Amino acid sequence: MPIESAYAPITVPPVDVYTFLFDRSDRDYPDDHAIFVDVTAQKQDSILDVRDAAERFGHGIQQQWDWQKGDVLALFTPNSTDVAPVTFGTLWAGGVVCPFNNLYRVGELVSQLKSSQAKALITHVACLQVAREAALLAGLPLDRVLLVGPRDLKGVFRHFSDVQPSTTDVKRVAINPQEDLAYLVYSSGTTGSPKGVMLTHENIVANMLQWATVDADQMHWSRDRTIGFLPMYHIYGIAVLLLQAVYKGVTIYVMQRFELEQFYRTIQEQQITFAFVVPPVVLALAKHPLVDRYNLSSLRMMHSSAAPLTADLAQLVHKRLIVPIKQGYGLSEASPGVASQPWDEWNTSPGSSGKLIPSISLKCTTNTGAEVPPGETGEICLKGPNIFKGYYRNPTATAEAMTPEGWYRTGDMGFVDSEMNLHITDRIKELIKYNGFQVVPGQLEGLLRGHSAVSDVAVVGVYSRERATELPRAYVVVARGFTEGVGLEGAICEWLGERVAPYKKLKGGVRFVEAIPKSDAGKVLRRVLAEQAKREDAAR
Ligand code: AMP
Repeated sequence: MPIESAYAPITVPPVDVYTFLFDRSDRDYPDDHAIFVDVTAQKQDSILDVRDAAERFGHGIQQQWDWQKGDVLALFTPNSTDVAPVTFGTLWAGGVVCPFNNLYRVGELVSQLKSSQAKALITHVACLQVAREAALLAGLPLDRVLLVGPRDLKGVFRHFSDVQPSTTDVKRVAINPQEDLAYLVYSSGTTGSPKGVMLTHENIVANMLQWATVDADQMHWSRDRTIGFLPMYHIYGIAVLLLQAVYKGVTIYVMQRFELEQFYRTIQEQQITFAFVVPPVVLALAKHPLVDRYNLSSLRMMHSSAAPLTADLAQLVHKRLIVPIKQGYGLSEASPGVASQPWDEWNTSPGSSGKLIPSISLKCTTNTGAEVPPGETGEICLKGPNIFKGYYRNPTATAEAMTPEGWYRTGDMGFVDSEMNLHITDRIKELIKYNGFQVVPGQLEGLLRGHSAVSDVAVVGVYSRERATELPRAYVVVARGFTEGVGLEGAICEWLGERVAPYKKLKGGVRFVEAIPKSDAGKVLRRVLAEQAKREDAAR
C-alpha cells in the first residue's frame, strides 16, 4: 500500500501563480512590508513595488514583443531583487520562466536557449559577453536581450525597467492552471542530457500551499528574516526565495551569490532568523574559522536541502552554533518539495528528510516496479499535485519517468521508517550533485569524447566528506599514441574546464582505466565505477 502524507490534504485553487500571489484576499502582511532587500544596494521592495514593476514589464512585453501565452523567457543572471518583477511580469503575461545557471559558458547557453525556444533573454552586466555571443549563435535578436540589476554603462542592452506599456488598457490572458506552464527548469532526469521539466501553474501553487502547511505556525512575516544566497535559477531558490517570500511575506536579504564573509556579516547585521542552506554551507558553518568572528545567535533555525545532509554534519553545526538544523528532500520534478523534518522534530530522526508534506503519496519499488514491504528500501515513486507534467518535447523521457498508473520514478532510493520519516539512502539515476548543483555525466562524457587523447570515458560522482559534496570524476581509456599520467590528467581537466561552467569541472580528477565496464547491451556500469571510486578513495 502506498504511504500517504499524515498532514490533511490541501485543496489547490484553480488559479494561476500570479493571481494566487498578488490578487489574494487572505494576505496577512502589510502592503509596505519589505519582501526583498538587496544586501549590497540596500534597496527594498514591498509587495506593491514588485506588483507594480511586474505588471509594467508584463504589459510592456505584450505590447512590444507581442508576447503570447506559453512564450518562454530565459533568465541568465546571478541573484538580483529584479528577478522578482521579471519573473512575476512574465507570469502575468502568460509566459513561461526558464532560468539557467549564470555560470554557463557560451556553448551551454546556446544549447539551452535552442532547447527551450526562448523568445527573450534576461541577463546581467556580469554575464554580458556570454549572453551576447550565445544570443547571436542561437538566433535570438539582440533587442530581446534585457538587463536586470545595474545598467550597462556602454548601453549594449536595454534595462528591463525600460520596457513600459504605451497604453493603459490591460489585457490578461486566460490561463488553464492544470495545463499551462509557469516554469521550465532544466534537470538531468534519470539519464542522458538535461531536459526541460514542465511545471504547471497548478504544480507551483500546490507546492506553495504544501510547504506553507509545514511549520505554518513557526515562520511569520512579523518576526522572521531570511538570507537569500541560494541561486534563484535553481528550483530550491525559486521556491523558497521568490515564491514563498511573496506568499508568506518573510523578508529575504538577497545576496548576488554565496560569499562566506558576506553571509556571516549579513546574518549578524540584519539579525537573520532563518537560513535555507545546502550541505557544503553547513560544513563551512561547522568548521570555518571565520564563524567565530561573528555573532550568529539571531538564527532560530536552518533548513538544508538539494543534497544529503549527514546526521554527523547536522550535529557538528548544532554543537558549534547552537542553531538547530532540519532537512528536506525535493527535486525539480516535484516543484520541488516532497518531505521535510518538522520544526519541532529536527533532532528526533537524525539524517532523515522528515515527513511527507501534504497530499504526497509515496511508494518504494524494486527494479521491476514491484512495491517493497513497508520499511524496506526501494526506488522512491511519487504522486501529488506538485508532480511535473513531463519533459519538454521529450515524450520518451516522460514515458520512462512515469509509470502507466501515474507514479513518477525519482531515481532516488530510500525508505520510510515506522515514525513516517523518509530516509534517502542512494541515487540510482546518473545525476551528480556538486554543492547542490546538477552535473549531468552524459554531457561531460559527450564533450570529453571530443578530446584527442580520450578513446572512451565515463563520469561518476565521488563523495568527499571534507567538502560535504560529490565531485565529478572521469574514468578515461587513453587513445593510442598518448601516455597516461599526471600531465595528461591535468591537460584533460583544463581542456574540459574551458568548455563548461566551473561547477562542472572534474574536481574529482581523472583515473585511467583499460576499459569502461559495460553491460552486454553496451550500457556503462556506473555502479561498478562508483564502487571502484570508493575503494580508491578509501585506500588513499
Ligand atoms: P534538483 O532537481 O536539482 O533539485 O535535484 C534533485 C536531486 O537532489 C534528488 O533527486 C536527490 O537525488 C537529491 N536530493 C535533494 N534533496 C536531498 C536530500 N535531502 N537527501 C539526499 N538527496 C537529495
